[in-house]
Amino acid sequence: MSTSQLYHNQELKGIKYLRTKYASGKTIYYGTISASYIKCSKCNSTSVMRSGGVTRTFKLLPTGKRQNCLRLFIPRVVCNECGTVRQVTVPFAEGRKSYTRALARYVLCLCQFIPLKYVAELCGLSWDTVKQIHKEGLRRKFKRIKLKDVRQIAIDEVCIGRPRKFLTIVLDLDTGQVLHIGRGKGADALKGFWLRLSHSKAKIEAVCTDMASGYMSAVKQHLPEALLIIDHFHLVKYMNDKLTLLRRQLAREADDEGKELLKGMRWLLVTSRKKLENEKNPREADMAALDEALRENTPLYIAYYLKEELASLWSKQSKIEAESFLDSWLTKAEGSGVDILEKVAKWLIRVKSNILNWFDYQISSGKLESFNGKIRRLLKNTCGLRDQEYMFLRIQNLMYAKT
Ligand SMILES: [Zn+2]
Repeated sequence: MSTSQLYHNQELKGIKYLRTKYASGKTIYYGTISASYIKCSKCNSTSVMRSGGVTRTFKLLPTGKRQNCLRLFIPRVVCNECGTVRQVTVPFAEGRKSYTRALARYVLCLCQFIPLKYVAELCGLSWDTVKQIHKEGLRRKFKRIKLKDVRQIAIDEVCIGRPRKFLTIVLDLDTGQVLHIGRGKGADALKGFWLRLSHSKAKIEAVCTDMASGYMSAVKQHLPEALLIIDHFHLVKYMNDKLTLLRRQLAREADDEGKELLKGMRWLLVTSRKKLENEKNPREADMAALDEALRENTPLYIAYYLKEELASLWSKQSKIEAESFLDSWLTKAEGSGVDILEKVAKWLIRVKSNILNWFDYQISSGKLESFNGKIRRLLKNTCGLRDQEYMFLRIQNLMYAKT
């Protein structure tokens, strides 16, 4: 090893190589700080007097799995200009950190591909240090999220564990960037976002939200100009939830035989008929069981076929055609005699224009839904990430995740 090898392999500026020692699986390099770096760390003056110092060890980039360190005497100097008494600054590491900047960059790079605990093992660092490096790197990356050019967004909640904890996520539908993460769900979780948005003077054209929580009224209040859209995904999900509710209600009221018939039907009810009829692998036994359950439960039969029918709304050729289709669907639901469906119709009449808005501006929260799956996987693999700031940063970083 030589001074120039240390410089090129380890990015160690301002160091003169002295010798190497091999001890307990590690390679330790000894060096000394070049004279040009002996200066005041406050005012940069080179008119200084040495006054003791300390020996510090810095972790370097590993060679394969072998750890490398640098042991160095760091002089303390008294400044003749400003009177400060301080250790001189080393140019290859930050402040009191015991690893080099090059190692920190390497850690950041590895964190994109492998879990933190393996990064720690590979680099001979503790898990906490790796996390700290990652956190600081992500902080720099997401320091300022520009909202000015955002045009279309999706707002949705994601459940992040039990007891039912939620996060509210706002996603830029053009870039896939997370614009806001709020604790909880509903309008309160969006407060900070509206403030930042109004400062940015962004002109939001369209917003996609779900139907149940308070997001819709919050959007109407803060973005009255924007087109509010309830998309295919959320409406189907809403109908499926109601179908599940109806099945549960009927099962409660049924006798033993009836209960047996409705058992295990949830998935079959919410899965689209087209999927069950899949040409390559039709699920004939499942469909027969479903049809039997439907035959015996008229309200469920009505609700099931109305759900199936509603799904074809988005294949209509025009907004006018869609509107007349939806109107006739709502009339059927209203007159179905099934309590749950009547309530559904009442609610859908209120949000009808938001459903039909999709024909003017075809955005969907599908992107956000798949993103929510990524968030749940992240939290599962990292046991929930107790550090909230770090959790939020990791979520923001998911759009760049390589794994
Ligand atoms: Zn000074």
